[in-house]
Amino acid sequence: MFQLFRTSRMWTARPLRDRYDVVIIGGGVHGLATAYYLAERGVTSVAVLEKNYIGAGASGRNTAIIRSNYRTPEGVAFYDESVKLYEELSVRLGYNVLFSQQGHLTLAHADSAINGLRVRAEVNQLSGVESRLIWRDEIRRLVPALDVSDGPRYPVLAALYHPPGGIIRHDAVVWGYARGASRRGVDIHSFTEATGIDTSNGQVTGVRTARGDIKTGAVLNATAGFCSTIARMVGIRLPITTHPLQAFVTEPLKAFLDKVIVSANLHVYVSQTDRGECVIGSEIDPYSSYSHRSTLPFLEHTAHNTLELFPCLKHVRVLRQWAGICDMTPDYSPIMGDVPGVKGFYLDVGWGTYGFKAGPVAGRRTAELIATGKTPDLIKAFSLTRFSDGRLVGEKAAAAVSH
Ligand SMILES: Cc1cc2nc3c(=O)[nH]c(=O)nc-3n(C[C@H](O)[C@H](O)[C@H](O)COP(=O)(O)OP(=O)(O)OC[C@H]3O[C@@H](n4cnc5c(N)ncnc54)[C@H](O)[C@@H]3O)c2cc1C
Repeated sequence: MFQLFRTSRMWTARPLRDRYDVVIIGGGVHGLATAYYLAERGVTSVAVLEKNYIGAGASGRNTAIIRSNYRTPEGVAFYDESVKLYEELSVRLGYNVLFSQQGHLTLAHADSAINGLRVRAEVNQLSGVESRLIWRDEIRRLVPALDVSDGPRYPVLAALYHPPGGIIRHDAVVWGYARGASRRGVDIHSFTEATGIDTSNGQVTGVRTARGDIKTGAVLNATAGFCSTIARMVGIRLPITTHPLQAFVTEPLKAFLDKVIVSANLHVYVSQTDRGECVIGSEIDPYSSYSHRSTLPFLEHTAHNTLELFPCLKHVRVLRQWAGICDMTPDYSPIMGDVPGVKGFYLDVGWGTYGFKAGPVAGRRTAELIATGKTPDLIKAFSLTRFSDGRLVGEKAAAAVSH
């Protein structure tokens, strides 16, 4: 009986060692995916430090939309690899992550929005990503519950239709990567806060934690909303501000929506889970904060805008509301790679409101960088030095409801 209980655990709790080849700070999808792909490459002397429980950060609080219909060639290629990795993830991890590629519609309610979506469709198609502009008749056929009449303040005019987009079970992804990494020898230490990073002659030498010190030559900062606090431990100021992002779900309803619906003009997105709940979100709170509290004004205005799209939800009750925090960069692209002047310190941050979908590709490519010392082409554009070199990657399609 005891044996049964032991083998059914998702990962194994092991003692904190005083030395690891790689220490990953942050037990969200990014930290755990990197640990998993490092272990796949044979790098198994790896510790993941998580100050809370695994998935306590944005990885356990997001609305789990996966897509690759970005606007820059760099963004499309990067997120497309992630969608492909997500497509095979259940098989790879031996754990069902419930990826539902039901299709994703970004609505346009103005001519300027149609022009923006047209550009995205062109960039997507040139990069081999399935995505096209569709008009009212087709939208009505795909989403019968959506109000596509002339009645609303901002009538729906067109949409960018991205069939491979969809939703996933976010906690399953986190647990699946944790289980896979643990089975390959990675040590996952929850409730273990990193409190300092030691360096000597510009090289990382160790990590201090609330449970003891660790010697290591490689540290990955995968702490999303908290990434500035970790970067400060090695004297770096990141071009990142942290903002709360909120979402809510309704009571479960009979299935009526099998597409992800996003409206940038109304700053709202809606999907329906396989349990029947509508998951509804909007853009970041307009102030920077580490607060994880949700607010009534957010709920009121997001619910109001949701009813513009789906008047049929008028009498539906809200079940719960929550917030997470997001690490926003000025150009809406992540910051990945090594850091000049601090050898052995790596960044996988700046994931804003869109980083869950990037978990697999970011983990895989960050693991490649740490294991080989070479920056993969796919992430070169996202280096920290782009800010000093003036090579920003303005990704206007990253935060789907903000632009
Ligand atoms: C409401 C909401 C909706 C979202 N919707 C989507 C979406 O639909 N699609 C999408 O792609 N993205 C979405 N996102 C964004 C996405 O969730 C994040 O970008 C992504 O989960 C970041 O993953 P991560 O592993 O980098 O960070 P996190 O999951 O935040 O993990 C970082 C971890 O670091 C830990 N940590 C911090 N400091 C320390 C320390 N000193 N020592 C040890 N551990 C530490 C934290 O406790 C945390 O668990 C959403 C976010 C929110 C909040």
